[in-house]
Order: sequence, then structure tokens, then C-alpha cells
Amino acid sequence: MPIPFIDLQAQRARLGQPLEDAILKVVRSGAYIMGPEIAEFERQMSDYGQAPFVLSCGSGTEALVLPLMAWEIGPGDAVFCPSFTFAATAEAMPLVGASPVFVDILPDTYNLDPAKLDAAIVAVKAEGKLTPRAVIAVDLFGQPADYPAIAAVAAKHGLKLIADSAQGFGCTLNGQHPIHWADVTTTSFFPAKPLGCYGDGGAVLCKDERLHDLLVSLRVHGQAVKSDLVGRTFDHDPKYLNLRIGMNSRMDTIQAAVLLQKLTIFDDEIAARNVVADRYAQGLSDVVAVPKVIDGGVSVWAQYTIETQDRDGLAAHLKSQDIPSAVYYPIPIHKQDVYSVYPAPGGLPVTEAKSKVVMSLPMHPYLTPDHQDQVIAAIRAYVKRNG
Ligand SMILES: *Cc1c(COP(=O)(O)O)cnc(C)c1O
Repeated sequence: MPIPFIDLQAQRARLGQPLEDAILKVVRSGAYIMGPEIAEFERQMSDYGQAPFVLSCGSGTEALVLPLMAWEIGPGDAVFCPSFTFAATAEAMPLVGASPVFVDILPDTYNLDPAKLDAAIVAVKAEGKLTPRAVIAVDLFGQPADYPAIAAVAAKHGLKLIADSAQGFGCTLNGQHPIHWADVTTTSFFPAKPLGCYGDGGAVLCKDERLHDLLVSLRVHGQAVKSDLVGRTFDHDPKYLNLRIGMNSRMDTIQAAVLLQKLTIFDDEIAARNVVADRYAQGLSDVVAVPKVIDGGVSVWAQYTIETQDRDGLAAHLKSQDIPSAVYYPIPIHKQDVYSVYPAPGGLPVTEAKSKVVMSLPMHPYLTPDHQDQVIAAIRAYVKRNG
């Protein structure tokens, strides 16, 4: 039996009957859209994520698009983001007509380099073609970006800051969630993310009530919301008053029911992922480059990513022993044809070098010591044999 890369079935077995009952309850209730589980989940996410306001939405991609829409970021605007990330981070900008501007990463954590961010903003301002509006930092592979430094750069230039925590929801830096520094945190509940549902889903966390209200409106076709109605009366249902161009980005009630169950074990799973990560580090740090977490950071380990100059050889060797591995990400976003038209001031040498050597190993809270020892032994044997 191959070792699973991510084991969602072990998690499902642990959650057991209550999970299936929660899904069936929604099926029987008929409240498939915006049922009571949605509000309850948003409330619990708010507690968990230490953000006063939480909006559930259709996906992690839409979670990025919604705040850009709320801030009216569009044609002629620049939003700065890393290129060493999943495409959705950069895709949000063209979706609203804006331009991503790609910024290089730090070589040890793979997250946005604050000094290069500052230089890129200065370069875009000097060129004068695009108007800088926002920064999207990514918590790649589960660990927090350098928010104190990034937030200072964003503030200096008067830019909004989004934490794309699709891979990192639950991570902390000096005990704080990214929302402590960011205007908005977004996340994804795609099944393979650390906090995933049984389909697509996402969330936008924020601290500003008016922004949250706008997001509520944009999620459902720009419909009138609380703050729009203050002091106004209508002779029809304001639900059908569409005050802005929005979209449909509701999360299904069934997904909220699943997530409410998963939240009950999420802290325990984060602890288990950290045990796995520590064990990998002990078993591998003398033969390959193991991940480094930012000082004061706690990662949720969406991926456990090592570096090796002989990636293809090692991957083939692991595969021959039924051990899966993956490469995130083999092509940086700025190197993809459709994104190559957007600026990457000064070039992205670190991103390009890292994309050639990174390799992710099986990582999930239910990885047994036995399976983990097999992975460690296989890597050690390969490195020993091939120098
Ligand atoms: C998965 C992911 C997204 C997009 O989430 P979806 O729910 O799949 O739309 C955005 N950003 C990052 C960094 C991701 O890993």
C-alpha cells in the first residue's frame, strides 16, 4: 500500500458518525444555502482566527477577489505579490482588471522579501504607469510571512495588505494570527488545505465593519446590506436592491457543517503536524536542506518541503518504494505565458532558483511514525548512494 501524501480518510474515520450526522442534518433540513451552520461557522472562525468579522465564500480564489472588488481595485492598479505561490494569488488581479506585480522571496522561508517589496513599489511608482494599491503576502506551505516588516512597507506606501493564508490558516507569528497585521486574511477550504471541507469553500477575515458589510453585499450580487439601509425606507424588499456589481460566492451549508466538525480537532491536528515536521527535521537535516520557520512562527505545515539538487532522481527513487512526493511549484507564476506580461521589477532570481530544487514529502496529522521512518530511510539511502 502506498503511503498517502495527505490522508483525508484517516481524518474522516476519526470524526466518525457526528460528521456524517451533521451532513445529513443539512440534507434533511433543506437549508442548503445560507443555513444556520453558515452563521455559526463564521462566528467560530472569528473566535478561532481572532478577527472580529468573517465572511464565508465560494473559494479561496474568490476570497482574494472580493476584497479587491470592495476596495475598487481595477484597471491601472498594481497589487504586489510573490510569484512562488499557487496561481490563484496572482489570478485575482486580472479578474478585477488590475495588474499583479511580482516580488521575489526570502531564500529560507520562501515568503515575500520585505526589502524587495519596498524596492518593487518604488520602481512601479517611478515608472508611473500603474498605481500601487495593495500587497498580497502568502503564508506559503503553512508558515506566516514576515508580517511586521511587510505591514510596515505597506503602511509606508499607503497600501492595503492581504494575507493569503490558504495554506497557512491557523499559523501564528509571536502568538498572533496574520490578521493582527493585515487588513484582510483570506483562506481556502479546498479539501487538501490544512483546514479543508468536502468541496470548495473559502473565507475572508477582517477587522473593519464597513468592509465586512461590503463583502457581504458583493458575495450576493451587490445586494443592499445593513449599512446601505440606514435611514432609508423601501416599498419593496431591499434584498432585490442591487447597489453594486457583485457575484455569487456563497459557501454551501453542507461545507459549513463539515468545517464545524473539523474545527473541533484543528488545534490537535496542527500539533500533530508539528510533531511530524520535527521528526522529519531530526531524521533528515544532515542529508538534505529541511524547512526553516521564521523566528517566533508556528507553521500549520500545509507542505513539508525539502531542497535537493537531484530532485528527479530522488522522486523516482521514492516512487519505486511507493512513497509519493510533489513539486510546489515547478513553474513560478511570472514564467507562465499568461502572466509573463505583468511586471517583475528587478527580476526574481531566488524564486527561479528555488522552483528548481524544492520537493514536498508526505505530510498530514495522521502520518504514522512507521510510515515516516520509511520516507526518512528511503531519502537517506538515496543520498548516501548518490552523494
Ligand atoms: C489553494 C490556494 C488558493 C486558492 O484557493 P481555492 O479555494 O482553490 O480557490 C489561493 N492561494 C493559495 C496560496 C493557495 O494555496
